Amino acid sequence: MNQIPSLPPLREGALANPDHDTLTADVVIIGSGMGGGTLAWALKDAGLGVLIVERGQFLPREPENSQPDHVFIKKRYVTSQPWYDAKRGQPFQPGVYYWVGGNTKMYGACLPRFRRSDFEEVTHHDGISPAWPFRYDELEPFYARAEELFEVHGALGEDPTEPEHSTPYPYPPLSHEPAVARFAVRLRHQGLHPFHMANGMHLPSMTDRRADTTADGSPSATGNKSDAENRAVRPALQSPTVRLLLGAYVRRLHTSPDGHTVAAAEAQLGERTVRIEAKTFVVSGGAVNSAALLLRSVSDQHPTGLGNSSGLLGRNYMVHNSTFFLAVNPVRRNDTAWQKTLGLNDWYEAGPDTPYPLGNLQMLGKLRAPMVKAARSWVPMWALKTVTDRSLDIYLSTEDLPRPDNRVTVDGDRIMINWTPNNLAPHQQLVKRISRAVRKAGYPIVLSECMGIATNSHMCGTAVAGTDPSVSVLDPNCHSHDVSNLYVVDSSFFPSSAALNPALSIAANALRVAPTIAASAGAKGGHGDAIRGREPRPSRLDR
Ligand SMILES: Cc1cc2nc3c(=O)[nH]c(=O)nc-3n(C[C@H](O)[C@H](O)[C@H](O)COP(=O)(O)OP(=O)(O)OC[C@H]3O[C@@H](n4cnc5c(N)ncnc54)[C@H](O)[C@@H]3O)c2cc1C
Repeated sequence: MNQIPSLPPLREGALANPDHDTLTADVVIIGSGMGGGTLAWALKDAGLGVLIVERGQFLPREPENSQPDHVFIKKRYVTSQPWYDAKRGQPFQPGVYYWVGGNTKMYGACLPRFRRSDFEEVTHHDGISPAWPFRYDELEPFYARAEELFEVHGALGEDPTEPEHSTPYPYPPLSHEPAVARFAVRLRHQGLHPFHMANGMHLPSMTDRRADTTADGSPSATGNKSDAENRAVRPALQSPTVRLLLGAYVRRLHTSPDGHTVAAAEAQLGERTVRIEAKTFVVSGGAVNSAALLLRSVSDQHPTGLGNSSGLLGRNYMVHNSTFFLAVNPVRRNDTAWQKTLGLNDWYEAGPDTPYPLGNLQMLGKLRAPMVKAARSWVPMWALKTVTDRSLDIYLSTEDLPRPDNRVTVDGDRIMINWTPNNLAPHQQLVKRISRAVRKAGYPIVLSECMGIATNSHMCGTAVAGTDPSVSVLDPNCHSHDVSNLYVVDSSFFPSSAALNPALSIAANALRVAPTIAASAGAKGGHGDAIRGREPRPSRLDR
C-alpha cells in the first residue's frame, strides 16, 4: 500500500516577487482552488512559465484549525466580505474561503465521480437537466488520474449507480465506525444499497480520525485531508516553472484594443496595482468570483462583460438543493470520530418507484455543538451537545436546474446573487424517504433544515460550456467562444449541477483541458502525461 506523501516544502523562488509592478508568464491561473490548483499541477512539466495568482494566503496550521468554536462561531477562516441577496437587497456572508487551495481547505473531501447519467439530458420534476458537451467516457481517464492525485479511498461494486472505472480506487475505502456500520446494516435490511463513499481523507488509525473529526467544514491541521493546496499547488510549486503570487486580488482583465485577446490582468496587492501579462489567461476563482471578474472586465468590445456575447455569463447559477439532517436516538450515543464514510444513491436516478431523479445521501464529518450553535444561537450549548452526542448527521443533496434568472451580477466591487431555488419537489421527496428509512433504522427523532442562499459550497454553472456559442459561454474545452486566449477552469463551466459533490469532476476536467491550454500557450507537447497537445482554437471574433 502506498504511503500518503508528506507535505512538500516550498521551493526557493516558488513565490513570485510582489515588488515588481509588472509580472509576466506564459500561463496565468487566477485562483488556486480545485480547478486552478489542479491545472497548475497538470502544467508543471509543460515547459511553460506558469503563474498562479491567488487573493488569499497560506492557511496557517494552528490549533484553531480543529476547534469548532473558532471555526464556526468566531468565523476564523471564512471571508468577511459579504455578497448581496439581489432580491432582498441584503448582505449575507457567503461560505467561501480565500486561501491557497480555495474552498477545498474546508471541504469534506467527499470525492465521487458524477454518474454516467449526469452527462446526459435527463428529465427532472421541474424540467430538463441539459447534457454536457462531452460524455462520461471522455472524462473517465481523467477521473482516474484525479483520484490518484487526490488519493481517493473508495470501493467499487457496492453502489449500483457507480459508472465503470478503468482503474480501481487507489486506496481502500475508509471503514465505517460502529454507529455507521450499524446504520448501513439497517439500511440494507430495508433493501437499500449503502456504500462506502469515495473520500480523500487518509485516516489509518483512530488517532488520525480523532485528530481530523472536524475536518468537514474546517481545515485539516494534520494534512490528512487531500486538498488542492497540499496535493496540487505545493507539488506544482516544486517545478522551477511554476510560481505563486499571494495576496493578489485580480480586479479585472484588460484586452488588446481589438478585444480579441486578454492582454493583462490587473491585480490589487494591498495598496498597489500590479499588471500581469501572459499568453494565456485561465480564470479559476470559483463559479461566482470567476463570473464576477469577467463581468467587471467590461470594455467597448465587451460591453456586458468579457466573453459574454451569449449574454449568459453569470446566469444559470446552481448550488444544489441541500438539507442538513439529524437522526437522533435519545438513548444511544454516537461516538463516531469520522462519520463521512457512507453514501446512498438508491434514489439518485428515476426508477420504478421514482418517476424522476431524487439525489444523494452522505454523512457529515460529525456535527459538534458549536457547529450548530452558529445557526441556533438561542439554544443552550448543553442542549446542542445532548443532541449532537446522539445524532447521526446526514447531508442530502438533490439537483437544481439551470435557470437564466438565477444569476450573479456585479455592482462595482459588490457581488449580487439573484437566486430562487427550483426543482424542490424531489428534494422534499428525498427528505421524506430518508426520514422513513432512518426511523426504521432506529432513530425516532428527525431534525432537518434546508439550506439557503449562504450555503453555496457546490456553486457552478455561471459560464456554461457547450458547442453553440449562442447558448454557451465556453466551448467544450472551457475556452471562451469570444476571446482567443481566455479559459475558465472551475465549476463555472458545468452545464448542469448533478446531485453529487463537484470537486473531483472539477479536478478531472482541469486535467482534461490542460493539454489544450498548454498548446495555446505554446507548449511543444510531450511534457509528461497530463500534457498531450491539441491545437488551440481561434476565438469566435477571429472566425
Ligand atoms: C464547507 C465546505 C465543504 C465542502 N465539501 C465538499 C466535499 O466534501 N466534496 C466536494 O466535492 N466538494 C465540497 N465542497 C465544494 C468544493 O470545495 C468546491 O466545489 C471546490 O473547491 C470548487 O473549486 P473551484 O476551483 O471552483 O473554486 P475554489 O476551490 O473555491 O477556488 C477558488 C480560488 O480562487 C481564489 N480567487 C477568487 N477570486 C479571485 C480573484 N479575483 N483574484 C485572485 N484569486 C481569486 C480564491 O481565493 C480561491 O482560492 C465543499 C465546500 C465547502 C465550503
